[in-house]
Amino acid sequence: MSILNADLHCHSVVSDGTLVPEDLAARAAANGVELWALTDHDEIGGQHRAAAAARANGMKYLTGTEISVTFAGETVHIVGLGFDPDDEDMQRGLVRTRGGRGARALEIAEGLAKVGIQGAYEGALKYVGNPELISRTHFGRYLVEAGVCKDTNEVFRHYLTDGKPGFVPHRWASLGDAVRWIADAGGLAVIAHPARYKFTANEEYALFSEFKAHGGRGVEVVTGSHTPAEYVKYADVAKEFGLAASRGSDFHSPDESHTDLGQLPYLPGELTPVWELLADRIR
Ligand code: AMP
Ligand code: MN
Ligand code: MN
Ligand code: MN
Repeated sequence: MSILNADLHCHSVVSDGTLVPEDLAARAAANGVELWALTDHDEIGGQHRAAAAARANGMKYLTGTEISVTFAGETVHIVGLGFDPDDEDMQRGLVRTRGGRGARALEIAEGLAKVGIQGAYEGALKYVGNPELISRTHFGRYLVEAGVCKDTNEVFRHYLTDGKPGFVPHRWASLGDAVRWIADAGGLAVIAHPARYKFTANEEYALFSEFKAHGGRGVEVVTGSHTPAEYVKYADVAKEFGLAASRGSDFHSPDESHTDLGQLPYLPGELTPVWELLADRIR
């Protein structure tokens, strides 16, 4: 059944969102979400809170995370759903994936200092909810506060993306490791927002083929990062590769996110929704 208000992608203060899991759950429920997953970047520390908050708000829950992966020189995000949040191999893998963020943040600040933006590390830290998870988003918020840019989008465009002064190349997890951590913990791996990557057609084909070969089983079709034309394109890709389809807003903050929780169109009816494959993992 595709006619389900499932929102299986969003972020809390445990990564780079601005709401605590309890407030996200209340907001999702108020927006009509029936099945919810909190998917913090490289981190599952909010999962027990989120599951309890989902229950308190009358929603079904799937555990979630969004793992940063390096593939063909680009950062790709792999969403994991329905895994055991106490799985130790997965926790160890995520600790390792988070590990480089502190040093990277200092380098980002050095790059920004070179173009005259002082104190960005300390400024970004004020927005960080989890000391192990300082992200570019936190720098974005500080640069808006400091009046350098009008919104975080502009910060990314001018300062934090490849070739810009605050961009630091980084090596994240491998695709195979991320998919295995999720699958071995009983979950289902999903390629997040595929239209966002700057891949050639061949590279994208390689991503989907290798993802499948490693045991990946889903792809986000309806996401806050896709246009309606991209829903159609990736519905076809899902069918071509025999992948189940996911739906999620990628909500981060009431002040920043264009797509609120639970407000996207339903998944196209001809696709297999990921939650059909995860029926026994729904709480
Ligand atoms: P990081 O994991 O530190 O590289 O940060 C990645 C995060 O930055 C993403 O998950 C988004 O939340 C945010 N981000 C990436 N690109 C943009 C953009 N153009 N505008 C606003 N936020 C962005
Ligand atoms: Mn994010
Ligand atoms: Mn992402
Ligand atoms: Mn996300």
